[in-house]
Amino acid sequence: MSTMEIAVLGAGAMGSMFGGRLAEAGHSVTLIDINQPHLEAIRANGLCVETDGNTRAIKNIAAMRPGATDKTPELLLVFTKSMHTRAALSGIEHLLGETTAVLTLQNGLGNVEAIRDFVPLANVLIGVTTWPADLVGPGSVSSHGEGNIRMMSADGERTSKVSAVAEALNSAGLNCQVDDNVWAAIWEKVAFNAALNSICAVTGTTVDQLGLLDDSKSLALTVAAEVVSVANASGVSADLNTCSTNIVHAIEQHRGHKPSMLQDVLAGRKTEIEGINGAVVDVARTLNVSVPHTETLAKLVRLIDARNASAVAK
Ligand code: NAD
Repeated sequence: MSTMEIAVLGAGAMGSMFGGRLAEAGHSVTLIDINQPHLEAIRANGLCVETDGNTRAIKNIAAMRPGATDKTPELLLVFTKSMHTRAALSGIEHLLGETTAVLTLQNGLGNVEAIRDFVPLANVLIGVTTWPADLVGPGSVSSHGEGNIRMMSADGERTSKVSAVAEALNSAGLNCQVDDNVWAAIWEKVAFNAALNSICAVTGTTVDQLGLLDDSKSLALTVAAEVVSVANASGVSADLNTCSTNIVHAIEQHRGHKPSMLQDVLAGRKTEIEGINGAVVDVARTLNVSVPHTETLAKLVRLIDARNASAVAK
């Protein structure tokens, strides 16, 4: 296997987990972040990764602030929250070479548009992942269970770059499939997140608690149906049955799970609402599709974001 020069922009839960696993597979990995205690802990003790009872410290990994590295990577993996993508890329623009591939597996819509401001479309790769990750504390991440990645170039071309990136991800056991239908996968994940994340963020319930009332379960399914109707109107063949099955499965199985949007609300951090429900509403408007439930949830989460921001400002 040939090894790759990889930089991870946004080395929180997902970026650290992916970066750690790629470093373990022998790739040269630089984590780039602005979370100073996290960077210092990694430099002092290595990156601590816990996966299903297997805890190890990964030492062959660099951890830097954006301005502190000048190594141009073959692959830049973007794992900031979606609303930070543009600011983060502007901090590492000097690293982007003519052939650097930039892969986003972030949630939401609008990630390609943000990345395109910095690199040509031919270098942008997009996808979704079902791998979960949590930041346990500075220098330490955990991930449980199996996941996968569905990925493709943003312009739909199956280039050698796409194969090389998929091979690198697979060398780290990350189960990457190159998928011509990647936009359907992205919209199906947006539908899942628009439904569960926003309802849990507004109500403070865990995912399984949405099963306490028929009304809340049916609200989640209604939001998913709205999002899928927007995807279909825009020419993407997202499948409502797939989304509904995933939502019902999550409500039945994800006991005690707080979606990231609820975790952000509870921690007083800004949520990804604009990249998820907000972005769906924007696309729906251009296509004249009605998404009243998705829009109401966007407005409510926006209000929570504003409340949290005003509390910080005081
Ligand atoms: P996170 O908040 O743990 O990590 C984001 C990191 O980006 C933070 O460490 C932050 O310091 C860093 N960052 C912010 N601004 C930056 C800047 N200007 N320069 C460099 N770094 C910067 O988020 P996460 O949970 O890892 O999620 C990342 C993305 O992946 C999100 O879009 C999320 O929705 C998606 N996602 C998360 C999971 C999960 O289980 N956590 C699963 C699938 C997809």
